[in-house]
Amino acid sequence: MSAASPILLTPGPLTTAAATREAMLRDWGSWDGEFNRMTSAVCADLLGIVHGEGEYVCVPMQGSGTFAVEAALGTLVPRDGCVLVPDNGAYCARIIRILERVGIPCVTLPLADDEPASAAAVEAAFVDEPRITHVAQVHLETSAGLLNPLDEIAAVCARHDKRLIVDAMSSFGAVPIDLRRSGIDALVSASGKCLEGAPGMGFVIVRRTLLAQCAGRSPSLALDLHDQWTYMEKTTQWRFTPPTHVVAALRCALDQFIAQGGQPARALRYARNCTALLDGMKALGFTSFLPPAVQSHIIVTFHAPRDPAWRFADVYAAVREAGYILYPGKLTRVETFRVGCIGAIDEEDMRRAVAAIGDVVEQLGIRGV
Ligand SMILES: *Cc1c(COP(=O)(O)O)cnc(C)c1O
Repeated sequence: MSAASPILLTPGPLTTAAATREAMLRDWGSWDGEFNRMTSAVCADLLGIVHGEGEYVCVPMQGSGTFAVEAALGTLVPRDGCVLVPDNGAYCARIIRILERVGIPCVTLPLADDEPASAAAVEAAFVDEPRITHVAQVHLETSAGLLNPLDEIAAVCARHDKRLIVDAMSSFGAVPIDLRRSGIDALVSASGKCLEGAPGMGFVIVRRTLLAQCAGRSPSLALDLHDQWTYMEKTTQWRFTPPTHVVAALRCALDQFIAQGGQPARALRYARNCTALLDGMKALGFTSFLPPAVQSHIIVTFHAPRDPAWRFADVYAAVREAGYILYPGKLTRVETFRVGCIGAIDEEDMRRAVAAIGDVVEQLGIRGV
């Protein structure tokens, strides 16, 4: 690929397959039966990926992933509820800000950037604070690349009869999630992450009986998940202008996802990308931030070298010139940068990207990597 169309080593938007981009080359009307059948087929496939058929419904939402997270929290949590948020990164902090805006009480469980949430800590919070009615759990904290133990936390929530809303934005499709008897009430993700679609559509997979109780609860009109669901059930159409091209791209991306072997195949490709990245960067002298036990295969955070010749903006520009887009760090305490392993790329792409980073380090005379 040329520098004009670089490979994105970022966790969304990410590099998409040519077929996915080509699926956006025609226009669709929002009343068109074919388009609305496409939406419904997309939702059915999304449910299937996490085994939610029957008990759960999939409600799409226009916008980036955050719009769907805000829609889920605002619609599913009553104003007299109280949400526990285990906090180990920027996306957890975003959930806390949403709850504050919407006016829902929350209790945070502060954790370090490299410290996964634990079922024991969540259970202890339930005992300490009986007001807690819900848990909002980020499955994979993309700010460091940290994987939280979702199954254990879901089991604790089920045992204590707490509703569990999961931000599975950067894990959906790549990390196994099974909703059957899981204790998960709602799962939020979006088109432009591990499903490798174009960005612009979020979705919430939610227990049907729970969503049915949420009429008129959302403080937002545009982000009212219940309204979006009932309107779509009644008319087969989206409530407001649908992101037609994004839906068409996601349909095409899901066809490829299924043909390639679904979630296990996606996980395997990303794991290979991640291994190629970690091995290559280690050989260049870089160290990764997370211990291997909690490192996901979605995105890797690396320590920035201490040499003052390392300026991320310069490195970014030079690596971009070579055809690859890096991602800045999102940790507050240490200087880091990130490399995503997701998107329509393979381990060969990753090896070439690492070689490009190595060339740039040499060009810029960066030492002490
Ligand atoms: C990408 C992401 C989001 C959504 O971010 P947007 O910028 O709205 O797409 C939310 N949570 C996690 C964990 C993410 O990785």
